[in-house]
Amino acid sequence: MEQEFQERLAARRRALHQIPEAGFKETKTQAYILETVAACPQDFLHYKTWKTGALIFIEGSNPAKTVGYRADMDGLPISEETGLPFSSHHEGMMHACGHDFHMTIGLALVEYFSVHQPLHNLLFVFQPAEEGPGGAEPLLASDEFRAWKPDEMYALHIAPELPVGTIATKPGILFANTSELFIDFKGKGGHAAYPHTAEDMVVTASHFVTQLQTIVARNVSPLDSAVVTIGKIEGGTKQNIIAEQARIEGTIRSLSIDSMNRIKARIEGMARGTEESFKCKVSIDYGANYCQVYNNEDLTEAFIQFADSFEGAAFRLCDKAMTGEDFGYFLEEIPGVMFWLGVDSDYGLHSSKLDPDENALSVAVNYLTEFIKSR
Ligand SMILES: [Zn+2]
Ligand SMILES: [Zn+2]
Repeated sequence: MEQEFQERLAARRRALHQIPEAGFKETKTQAYILETVAACPQDFLHYKTWKTGALIFIEGSNPAKTVGYRADMDGLPISEETGLPFSSHHEGMMHACGHDFHMTIGLALVEYFSVHQPLHNLLFVFQPAEEGPGGAEPLLASDEFRAWKPDEMYALHIAPELPVGTIATKPGILFANTSELFIDFKGKGGHAAYPHTAEDMVVTASHFVTQLQTIVARNVSPLDSAVVTIGKIEGGTKQNIIAEQARIEGTIRSLSIDSMNRIKARIEGMARGTEESFKCKVSIDYGANYCQVYNNEDLTEAFIQFADSFEGAAFRLCDKAMTGEDFGYFLEEIPGVMFWLGVDSDYGLHSSKLDPDENALSVAVNYLTEFIKSR
């Protein structure tokens, strides 16, 4: 029975794994979800789409509230290198962040509760574009979501470094505030042998990168934590031409909204100073932003209490991480908990070789079925 259940879950996960799609392009994935939901008993189930996502509402028998579960849907622009027989069918795209797992677990819960009516209402949110360009914020603001807005909300993320059977979380901040960072420098180029007639954007960008290093060292409290990383730099056209443009690309991470704002203000201040001292134009683009994931203290305490007493999983208190997750936007508005699910893979999230252990699927479904009933 359990074996058969596990195989059904694995088959569903493999089907989703083969069709990874980019944010707001999850049309095949959406069709797969809708097909699965349409096959469920419809006695107390309602559903609708939102862009390439789906919202599934299950009426409780005597509801006092609505409990939500969110699964993200998008894959990543990565060429899969697992060599698995059920590898991605979409060239250059891969479910390398476990969103195929998150959806499979969500669908199994929909199937279960469409047969076994829950006490309270349930909302299952299949959310597009977690990796980018950002699905959580517009979804939260949509009429479709607001009509069924939950009173508390849960989500999980696979954790390759934790063994199968492990569930981990912590109260308060779990994931960092993150922001992309793109900075363009534009000045007057010129002949390499006439530096006095030009403004050199390679020198300018180099100074700027060095200056950025002082932000974490000098502007963030030593008791707080933050990261400013520049991962890419490019500029100029040729070895004997003074560059008229340069671009740096990076990311900012912080453990409080306050320090994120402070870091951005410092970068903007440095940009104005650089324009003045290097006679150029500096433009800043923050790209995709993620709000911190902050677990509600009371709900996390209840979650941990339940997890401790649940026999099918081992609970661990974990540390906070500098990764980003747009589930944080939900938790800004709705109290809830995000947690890690151990899937024991030698390769990490966003790796082309990520190979999560499918035995974690039934652990999560069994756990969440009982947990949701306990709410
Ligand atoms: Zn990811
Ligand atoms: Zn993810």
